[in-house]
Amino acid sequence: MNNYGPFSLDGRVALVTGASSGIGKRLAQVAAAAGAKVALVARRTERLEELRVEITALGGVAIAIGADVTDNEALSAAFDAAERALGTVDCFVANAGIGVGGEPSEVRSEDWKRAMETNLDAVFFSCQEAARRMQVAGKPGAIITIASVAGLIPQFEFSPYSIAKAAVIQTTRVFAAELGPRGIRVNCIAPGWIKTDMSAWFLDAPEGAAYVAGLPLGRAGGPEDLDGAFLLLASDAGRFMTGVTLPVDGGQLLRP
Ligand code: NDP
Repeated sequence: MNNYGPFSLDGRVALVTGASSGIGKRLAQVAAAAGAKVALVARRTERLEELRVEITALGGVAIAIGADVTDNEALSAAFDAAERALGTVDCFVANAGIGVGGEPSEVRSEDWKRAMETNLDAVFFSCQEAARRMQVAGKPGAIITIASVAGLIPQFEFSPYSIAKAAVIQTTRVFAAELGPRGIRVNCIAPGWIKTDMSAWFLDAPEGAAYVAGLPLGRAGGPEDLDGAFLLLASDAGRFMTGVTLPVDGGQLLRP
């Protein structure tokens, strides 16, 4: 039992990619606290194992699965493992991502490919895999992608990242249009600056601290600031929402 009311994930099976740190770790913890059984996926398996132990100690159910999301076979094997241990995944979170910098006129082909492989291709094919399995099992479900405000406004110093995240938003919308009639909702969260390993280089520097202090809410977010948006989109509380991109950014879009 949990006290999440319409935001409860009781009886659900969640798979979170990039659960070894930052936002993915937090969303996996929240999913478990809200009642879901959780499959934790990333490459750093020792971190996943620590999280699995932590969730289990709190009375939750989790399994750790090592996989590189850019490898479609490994991804499919991860879904197989989750399905065997926990049942069909009906809450999929496409969170794994990497920051790749470069102004458009200077981006090298290998950096472009790296950015797209993880931030776009893996999101597309993992959503496809999740949706296929929900349909085979005849289960409704929720898919949540993690884009960025950089997908809504151009971040030219991180152009491959910014372009990939814009495409994640459209990926969300095209899957939502196709899968709605089959009972599968697909929505996106677009975080602003959130304190994690990915953003530390900026937020720990004086210019980053000054930038977020000047935002409408005057601070960077923490992964826990995404809890509400995640639970809304994952649970029945969001049952009439699909194809939506929800910015959670402390007002950054008001002052780009
Ligand atoms: P972290 O660097 O803390 O986490 C990134 C996660 O992605 C890690 O768990 C990493 O796991 C996983 N990952 C990366 N590449 C792969 C891969 N090939 N296969 C499997 N897992 C992979 O960053 P955040 O938590 O900040 O980022 C999470 C998401 O949030 C990303 O999509 C990011 O773009 C997005 N975001 C973050 C913002 C921020 O300010 N922090 C702002 C906007 C969006 P491992 O290395 O163990 O494989």
